[in-house]
Amino acid sequence: MTFLIATKNKGKKKELERILLPLSISVISEADLEKPLDEVEENGATFEENALIKARAACQSTGLPTVADDSGLCVDYLDGAPGIYTARYAGEPSNSEKNNAKLLAVMKDVPEEKRTARFVCAVACVFPDGREFTVRGECEGKIGTELKGNGGFGYDPLFISELGCFGEISDEEKDSISHRGAALKELSKKLKEEYLC
Ligand code: IMP
Repeated sequence: MTFLIATKNKGKKKELERILLPLSISVISEADLEKPLDEVEENGATFEENALIKARAACQSTGLPTVADDSGLCVDYLDGAPGIYTARYAGEPSNSEKNNAKLLAVMKDVPEEKRTARFVCAVACVFPDGREFTVRGECEGKIGTELKGNGGFGYDPLFISELGCFGEISDEEKDSISHRGAALKELSKKLKEEYLC
């Protein structure tokens, strides 16, 4: 079986490939399609809704079973913000340096015990026959008081996990506890148990 991964992000395609290959599922991404996918407006109210919007549109236009994800950072002190607006926190176009600078400024005087946060990743899987489901992974941590490390991407230099700052730990360490790693493990489990028998 071939799945479409509705993402332009090569890193995400690689992660999904690693997870789906043992299930005898091969993976293609938007870059492998003859015609690029139409842009869809991600106007859902939750990570799950946005992942479903992307997956449904891509499945409909290609006829292939499709997986799409939506992720972001939820900070308790900010009542869950930036949440579904994580990529555009400091405005459009999305810019990680500006996003991190804004978060640091907003959290400037917040004491350590109130800096709790989590990364969230929702993955949607949609089949051409109309079946669909979502899974979610979360990773708990705290917002740091300064940027740390050159690893990872996005908000990694500010996210302090149980294994250390995401900007400083190895890819393997991050995969083992990350929101995306957790969501993909759930995806693999659900496909194996309910959809591929
Ligand atoms: P998207 O799901 O690719 O749209 O990402 C949403 C936003 O969350 C982007 O600003 C990413 O930089 C950020 N983000 C998602 N996952 C991670 C992560 O593992 N580390 C750092 N930032 C992340």
